[in-house]
Amino acid sequence: MKQPIFLTPQFQERIWGGTKLRTEFGYPIESDLTGECWAVSAHPNGQSIVSQGPYEGKSLGELWKEHRELFGNMEGDVFPLLTKILDANNDLSIQVHPNDEYANKNESGELGKTECWYVVDCEDDAEIIYGHTAQTKEQFVEMIESGDWNGLLSRVKVKPGDFFYVPSGTIHALCSGVLILETQQSSDTTYRVYDYDRVDQSGNKRELHIQKSIDVTTIPHEDITVKPCIEKIPGATITTFVKEQFFSVYKWEIEGSAAFHQDKPFLICSVLKGSGEIVTEAGSLFIEKGSHFILPAGFGDFELTGNVELIVSHP
Ligand code: ZN
Repeated sequence: MKQPIFLTPQFQERIWGGTKLRTEFGYPIESDLTGECWAVSAHPNGQSIVSQGPYEGKSLGELWKEHRELFGNMEGDVFPLLTKILDANNDLSIQVHPNDEYANKNESGELGKTECWYVVDCEDDAEIIYGHTAQTKEQFVEMIESGDWNGLLSRVKVKPGDFFYVPSGTIHALCSGVLILETQQSSDTTYRVYDYDRVDQSGNKRELHIQKSIDVTTIPHEDITVKPCIEKIPGATITTFVKEQFFSVYKWEIEGSAAFHQDKPFLICSVLKGSGEIVTEAGSLFIEKGSHFILPAGFGDFELTGNVELIVSHP
């Protein structure tokens, strides 16, 4: 009988980070500038570690290399997905990510980065930056050179439960007061267009990547509105947000007890609210807000019980 693979996240300090990953999720982190929880990651810049069971202590990258059968013998050098929780206590830099082809050529074989955001919580009137107004590359360059950020950048109001799909080439940024769960390709390549002229504790500005940003940005911006599809099953509400090239992402809201069948190469599960149990023939395991686990290939039938909300994804 296959077991769920529970993972311990890695945390990343960022100048825009805050304390919500400790105060909201209870993670044992010291820095008051913690921006990112890399919850399910096999990326070399921050790997999650198996926290229990036969593979305890192994990194997700090692599991991918040594036990590909857990992932349905999927092909590929790198584990394809990365799940994060981001606490934007301050504005993130205005940024854009390359696609696979550009990243492979210009970032020593990295994957491109298409990502998506589920808004876990946010302040009233919180916003994100999503897209831009330039109609041509010349116009885009002109507005960057003249620093016309208000004219160039499109702002969107957000509320808890919103979902945004952010394909590579999309100009974007989280703004202060937004807590999100991000599902993305396993990549750490970000091109910064503008960083609000901020300096770090040593007085240094972070590097910008204007030319690369101009190279990869989709012009004009293509607005993608996600239309979530909601389905009721006994004991649960299933919301399908996206089924796209790199990932599918769902929200599972369990009330009581619901039956599922895992027939994907693997499922990534992150608990965002409540607590409950994952029940199989082999027994039951406790899950709660802040738990992250993978259900491996061939996991088969299982039940989720309790009052619990999860974001679930698969390639
Ligand atoms: Zn991004």
